[in-house]
Amino acid sequence: MPGEISSDSALVLFSGGQDSTTCLAWALERFARVETLGFDYGQRHVVELGQRAGLREGLMAMKPAWRERLGEDHTIDLAALGQISQTALTRETEIALDASGLPNTFVPGRNLIFLTFAAALAYRRGLRHIVGGMCETDFSGYPDCRDDTVKAMQVALNLGMGKSFVLHTPLMFIDKAATWALARDLGGEALVDLVRRETHTCYLGERGELHEWGHGCGECPACVLRAQGWRRHAGGL
Ligand code: ZN
Repeated sequence: MPGEISSDSALVLFSGGQDSTTCLAWALERFARVETLGFDYGQRHVVELGQRAGLREGLMAMKPAWRERLGEDHTIDLAALGQISQTALTRETEIALDASGLPNTFVPGRNLIFLTFAAALAYRRGLRHIVGGMCETDFSGYPDCRDDTVKAMQVALNLGMGKSFVLHTPLMFIDKAATWALARDLGGEALVDLVRRETHTCYLGERGELHEWGHGCGECPACVLRAQGWRRHAGGL
């Protein structure tokens, strides 16, 4: 029946970064059918999107159950978001903090838009659970990553679409070191290594050499956060 929702199915917001790859593994452990969604909005780190297919392959090779559960991959073109936002992610400007303390990489309301498109796709695909890597802990000043915002979105989406979607944010209250530990719990050393080698985090879109924490410029805020998290995680082993 069109519009029918399968309760054991999920859609994962999957950018190809460390956080969303860990979220995808988390979903593959829990749900019988898992589909993935990426957004292309002209971001400077579009290289991230290019990593997605290889990461999906890597995850499928890791566990037979994951291979069975991982379904279709979707990409939605949100070029309009890039047009509105005029941020450092899409223009050749330096990443810096603005007067309010927000990084100028901030795309206002980006996650509200992502979640709305995700829910519309989940509706069409009959998927009940929506999984995203939003996180309050490494708070960069993004109000749309807050737990309250995501909870409010769940209410709004269910009212507006007449469904009972469940929004999951497994990383909401953990830091980057704990995100590495979660990857290890879910898929052992093999998953940690896949995330380290194949995910992309750098705002500048640099791959460059492989550092112990992965690829990237090593200097932008995203690289610094990732490297610090890796060191805390590695130090705590
Ligand atoms: Zn970087």
